[in-house]
Amino acid sequence: MELEGRAKGLLFNYLRDYLIADSGEQSWELALHSLTPTDQETLQGFILAGGWYPVRVWNRMIDFQMEKSKDPAAAMTKFCTYLGDRELNSLVKMMLKLGWPEFLLKRTGFLWNRYFDQGVFTAEELSTRQWRLRLTAPASETISVARLTCGSGPAPWLERGLHLSGTPSGRVEHTKCRWDGGPHCEFIAHW
Ligand SMILES: [Zn+2]
Repeated sequence: MELEGRAKGLLFNYLRDYLIADSGEQSWELALHSLTPTDQETLQGFILAGGWYPVRVWNRMIDFQMEKSKDPAAAMTKFCTYLGDRELNSLVKMMLKLGWPEFLLKRTGFLWNRYFDQGVFTAEELSTRQWRLRLTAPASETISVARLTCGSGPAPWLERGLHLSGTPSGRVEHTKCRWDGGPHCEFIAHW
């Protein structure tokens, strides 16, 4: 059987909260209905924040939702900025208070694997205030995140984290992508 990647339940909960706040209760129902009946069942009822759900379900819901927008990448960036705000604000408040962006970047791998069980995120310092982050994962939508999450997910989420850590000039760019044939995704963080 082919390996299946998984996404953490809390991501679906954030997506649901975001959709309901942004465009009303039925927007979440519509996103659910974009799934196959079997996948819909997986998310029926209460979604466990700490549970694991198939990543293909995540990919399909994100595609469905963001592609409704004229600019799916911008829509995804907006959602992931919200996610970074909610998540990093509560989760790493203590360390962010220290005001060291490096502290956050070094833990990107750990944080990533709270959300997705596949893919390895590494971070290395290139020079003062410039870091390179890499995501190594197969370019498969059943194993890892699809193009939209990859292209407009980690960058705005981390960027929000940098801002929260007292680095308003922080920028994170997705400079290479597995979905464009690269061996891994690359992100450059600078401030
Ligand atoms: Zn990528």
